[in-house]
Amino acid sequence: MTDTLSTARSEALFAEAQALMPGGVSSPVRAFKSVGGTPRFIERGEGAYLEDVDGNRYIDYVMSFGPLLLGHAPEAVVSAVAEQARKGTSYGAPSPLEVDLAEMIQRIYPSMERLRFVNSGTEGAMSAVRAARGFTGRNKVVKFEGHYHGHADLLLAKAGSGVATLGLPDSPGVPAAVTADTLVVPFNDEAAVRELFGREGDEIAAVLVEPIAGNMGLVRPRDGFLELLRELATEHGALLVFDEVMVGFRVHPGGAQALFGIQPDVTILGKVIGGGLPVGAYGGRADVMQMMAPDGPVYQAGTLSGNPLAMAAGLALLREVEASGAWQRAADAARETADAIQRAADAAGVPVVTDAVGAMFGFFLTDEPVTDYASAARSDKAAFARLHRLLLDRGVYLPPSPFEACFTSSAHTPEVVAEAAEAFRSAFAAL
Ligand code: PMP
Repeated sequence: MTDTLSTARSEALFAEAQALMPGGVSSPVRAFKSVGGTPRFIERGEGAYLEDVDGNRYIDYVMSFGPLLLGHAPEAVVSAVAEQARKGTSYGAPSPLEVDLAEMIQRIYPSMERLRFVNSGTEGAMSAVRAARGFTGRNKVVKFEGHYHGHADLLLAKAGSGVATLGLPDSPGVPAAVTADTLVVPFNDEAAVRELFGREGDEIAAVLVEPIAGNMGLVRPRDGFLELLRELATEHGALLVFDEVMVGFRVHPGGAQALFGIQPDVTILGKVIGGGLPVGAYGGRADVMQMMAPDGPVYQAGTLSGNPLAMAAGLALLREVEASGAWQRAADAARETADAIQRAADAAGVPVVTDAVGAMFGFFLTDEPVTDYASAARSDKAAFARLHRLLLDRGVYLPPSPFEACFTSSAHTPEVVAEAAEAFRSAFAAL
């Protein structure tokens, strides 16, 4: 079990892919740059497991970076997509599925009085900012260091996820003028936020926040931090925008806003609401969303937006989650896995900080509390890379970066977690 796995076919595909695509991948983190080794080319997913083209099976703690709350290829989603595909894959016209999914989302997220579907979290964030700017007539946008809101130009400032993984500075190709109105402050730094609003509050259109950060590893807000953002935004006439693309339906069945009891003006969703198909959504106060075309003058559109396959998949997933104990099992699996990592690290004398919130967990190889990007970045990234490889060889697939959260599903049964726990014990011992 601890012999290095054969990865010959993944290696051959990776070589071929690198001649075709930058880094051989469609999204940078997948190239395994920060952990080393060959990215595994995946043949299929089944429940909690991924199987690569060399026939190796892994317990998957990535779950496509969030969407797969029921695991890979759950019957409910597969049959909904197959059934819809036979009726057409795209109409360029409205369909009842959009109404059904919008109703379902709004019932779970009542703050989204109006919403619109897009094709990715990136589009959702970009459009939410445009709505906020259009509504307020202001340009400045506040974001937090290490938070990732997709790759729209103006939000690529001190971003997390792949930007942090690859240690990229603000990206070339993004004109300085485009990020000039993006104001970045450290997460959980109340004094910095107060100071910023005190100085420029009346020019701020929106403050965007991952209510629980998931793109610099998993980092919770300090008690009162989100409340402070709510208070300052209201006081200064800025909009509070929760980016729940990652945490939505995961940290709590009603998302972060239900978990914390805070109502944002605008919410961005993605991932889970598409059941593993490309999707995003943004929505919020009716008066803000009425700014969007065709009701209002702020333009935003999409050929494949509200795509019937994505709507069918999202609806099937959310219905199954509501009808079953799926969320609770996924959440239990996250807590059990985080505890297993803590025990394995303690036994091996490796300093670690672990946390789990609902169906997400994270850990840092560090001996200090992690509250912001600076403390996350001080964790031992070289040790994480070694651990990642040791775990792959033991059949556990973690996100290939210390700056990504880990995800569970209802397919992560106690037996699966026990199998992973054994791999963690052995990998930390070998670290
Ligand atoms: N916001 C957050 C909080 C995210 O985690 C992500 C993606 N991980 C995005 C936005 C961008 O979503 P997408 O990759 O679908 O464009």
